[in-house]
This record gives sequence, structure tokens and C-alpha cells, in this order.
Amino acid sequence: MFPVESILAKPLFTREDIIYLLNTTEKERLLLFEKAKETKAAFVGKKVYFRGLIEYSNYCKKNCYYCGIRAGNSRYARYRMTDGEVLDAVNYAYQNDYASIVIQSGEQTNQPFVRKIESLLNRIDRQTSGKIHVTLSLGEQSGETYRRWFEAGAQRYLLRIEVSNPTLYPKLHPDNQTHSYKNRLEALKTLRTVGYQVGTGVMIGLPFQSVSDLADDLIFFRDFDIDMAGMGPYIAHADTPLYQYRDELLPLKSRFDLSLKMVAILRIMMKNINIAATTAMQTIDPQGREKALMVGANVIMPNLTPVKYRQDYLLYENKPCLDEEAEECKSCLEARIHIAGDVIGYGEWGDSKHFTDRKA
Ligand code: SAM
Ligand code: SF4
Repeated sequence: MFPVESILAKPLFTREDIIYLLNTTEKERLLLFEKAKETKAAFVGKKVYFRGLIEYSNYCKKNCYYCGIRAGNSRYARYRMTDGEVLDAVNYAYQNDYASIVIQSGEQTNQPFVRKIESLLNRIDRQTSGKIHVTLSLGEQSGETYRRWFEAGAQRYLLRIEVSNPTLYPKLHPDNQTHSYKNRLEALKTLRTVGYQVGTGVMIGLPFQSVSDLADDLIFFRDFDIDMAGMGPYIAHADTPLYQYRDELLPLKSRFDLSLKMVAILRIMMKNINIAATTAMQTIDPQGREKALMVGANVIMPNLTPVKYRQDYLLYENKPCLDEEAEECKSCLEARIHIAGDVIGYGEWGDSKHFTDRKA
């Protein structure tokens, strides 16, 4: 019997167990993936839910050291999609039975932005007779803004903690009030209080990050009792301060392997949450998203952003599918999901079971 088998049989992993699992290789690693696959089939089934991704704007007031669209990067033309473009993308999702969309953007907190999102949410609700569920990923906002958007129809919110270690956080962000770990954590708590299905996540393979930090990230998710997770490898971007550490990073293959293990372990730890197969995984491995689905992920985000904006929403280098229109993206993902042995939950919201069970 392999040591991993006794760990996988435990009802609750310790920090040491998680570190062991993150370091598994060969046969032990495959046993971990097998267990995650079984857990997914038993608790959330073989359905994969689509969230049509709308990269609404690359204006951002922040300067996270890892991100290509940080305020300090003047290389990209800044854009904001028009209402018509957003509503067309929503209509595409609606007509194609996606049932859910994600509106993501650089962080903006000014009142015109807050009102614009509120009005778009109202229009999306009217245009689809409430049939589309909306996830927002618009960064840290005040409690009042989160409430307004919730009341206007948003059901889910994604705000990655990025790293759960408070001493690592200031090494990856400017050390000031706008980028404070404490505020990030408070924002996550506020989202929960307002009533959203709350998603968070981390980047994997960042400079200064250790395997035990990643184990702590998974424990953070469990303690916070999250409903959804989005995790992926960190990928360097030449126009960012962290680029200077590119030669000290884990090789891309190891970052990818760790990301797969993070997905698999999280699925076993939090059996009925939603976990995204993220685009960053495909950046490293052409079959990255299928592999993530095979080890526990159950959500995928087909990109609905108009192609003309994609070159200006480069969070990291080599982002895939930059020239793929919504239709091509859909057929490509259908094939990928089929390869992974899953089916698409067309017309279903695919809300987090963890959330609905907690509410019940
Ligand atoms: N501005 C919002 C926020 O930060 O929450 C939402 C958009 S932000 C671009 C979405 C996510 O992109 C971040 O949470 C971060 O984890 C990820 N990201 C940014 N730069 C990245 C990089 N270089 N490699 C991998 N992921 C990255
Ligand atoms: Fe802005 Fe989000 Fe990028 Fe940070 S991660 S710079 S908040 S878009």
C-alpha cells in the first residue's frame, strides 16, 4: 500500500497531508487524481457548466505586481465595452443556452462605473427574463456597491485572495491601503454577508511562494467555506515588476503539475463546490483545461469578449484563443469537454451545490 492511500482515506486532511499530496509523483500522483475524479463524479456529477466570459474593461486603478493590465502599464490601449457590445455578448450566451455569464474587469470604484454595472445588470435581467445568472469579478468594492449589484441581479462574485499568506501578499502588491491584505479579506467577508455565492482562488508558482503556502491556501478555502474556486498557474508578463524574478520561478511544467494537484486536492477537500478549469492552465498545456476537468474541475468560461479587445486584456503572456470568435470557442470547448468524458450542462445555471446546501 502506498502512503498516499492512507491519506486519501482520511475524512479531513492536515496541513502535512496536503503538503505530502502536493509533492506526490508517479503512481501516487495518479492515485490522487483518480480519487479526485471519483469524488467529482459522486458529488457534482459529470456535468460541466459554461460561464460566458465578458472582459468588460481593462481600465484598472490598481498596480498588482503580476498583472499585465495594471494601471502602470502604458502598453495597452484602455477600453470599455459599449452597452450594445455587452448586451450582444449576453444575447449570444442566452441564445446558446449558456445560462450564466461572468463580467470581469480591471478594478474601478468610481460612481459612474458602479452605476453602469448596476444598469447593465438590470438590462441583462430584462433582456433574458431573469434566465441568465451573473457572476461578477470586478475587484474590491464597498459593501454598498456589492449590495447594489446583488439587488440588481448578480448572484455570484469571484474575488481571488491571490495568496492567503499575509506576509507574502505585500511582496506581490504595492504595500499600501489600496492593496491591503486586510481589505481583501474584509471584501470577501462582506460578499458572503450580502448573500453572493462567493468564489476565490490563488495563483500557483508565484515568486517567493512555497508548497506549504499552497497547502495553507487550500486550508484557507476550507476555513472560509468558499462556494467556488478559480486557480491557475502564475505566468510572467514582461511589463510587470515580478518579471525580474522569471528565472527563479518553477519551470512551467511544474507550475502546471502543481495547479492540477491543487484542483484535485480541493475537489477531495470540498466535494460539492464549483471549481473552474482556468484559461491560464491552457496557456501552459494545450490540453490544460481538459486535464483540469479530469481531476475535479466542473466549470469552464468560454470567452465572449469581442476579438478586437482581446489583445488589450493580456493579464499574462501567451494567453490562448485571442483570435477566436464566440462560435469557434464554443465548438472548441465542446470537443475538449467531450475528450474529458464530461457533458455540458446546457440551459442549467449550475449554481454551487455547496451554496445551495448551506442555504437549505
Ligand atoms: N480586477 C479584478 C481582480 O483583480 O479581482 C478581476 C480581474 S483580474 C485580471 C482576474 C485575475 O487574473 C486575478 O485575480 C489574478 O489572479 C489573475 N492574474 C493576473 N495576472 C496574472 C498572471 N500574470 N498570471 C496568472 N494569473 C493572473
Ligand atoms: Fe487590476 Fe485585477 Fe490586474 Fe490587479 S489583478 S492589476 S486589480 S486587473
